[in-house]
Amino acid sequence: MSKRRGRLVVISAPSGAGKTTLVRGLIDRDPRFEFSVSYTTRDKRPTETDGEDYHFITKDAFERLRKAGEFLEFAQVFDNFYATGRPAVESLLAKGKHVIVEIDWQGAQQVRARLPECISIFIVPPSVRALEERLRSRQTDSDAVIRRRLQDSITDLSHWDEFDYIVVNDDLGTALDELAGIASGRLRRNRVGTARTAAIMDRVMATGAN
Ligand code: 5GP
Repeated sequence: MSKRRGRLVVISAPSGAGKTTLVRGLIDRDPRFEFSVSYTTRDKRPTETDGEDYHFITKDAFERLRKAGEFLEFAQVFDNFYATGRPAVESLLAKGKHVIVEIDWQGAQQVRARLPECISIFIVPPSVRALEERLRSRQTDSDAVIRRRLQDSITDLSHWDEFDYIVVNDDLGTALDELAGIASGRLRRNRVGTARTAAIMDRVMATGAN
């Protein structure tokens, strides 16, 4: 008997929005979800494990895989390259897994164009100011890197309306419930295109300007 194909769930967020914690929480809570491990050319951070957080590869290896058509999408983010491997995602979907790809908005655009049936979710911080605090508390990056990331994050935020849903990561438990509900197709709250969502995003963006 053939298994029903799983759902592809695209999750993006500006850095500092707490996306990684939410994605881990979602996978821990529900075994139907599986994380797609991306390729990256950036250096491994001390807390990361090769093959679990990312496949850490050289720029040459990245180019070879790209030319061989192995990527579902790829993008340059900051100074590094990132990509989602196509075969791994395809085989998980065929096994009936719901695959989470945690990628930036550029990659999300490519996945939506190729696989329009995916669900795309944009995680946002409660406010731009909260985002800055989170970036600073991470302490793995230098001050110059943090400032640049904040500017980039504000640019990233402007892409929220390209996604199907938004989740505001204010209270972690609430955000996780919302994310799990949307990713499993049960919850249609915070759908982009509604007045409610537009009002939420006005508040998120406005706080930083004060
Ligand atoms: P970090 O280097 O902090 O882990 O991630 C930086 C950014 O790259 C994040 O916005 C993250 O979502 C994005 N990213 C991670 N993996 C991929 C991927 O496979 N493709 C794309 N397009 N972006 C990715």
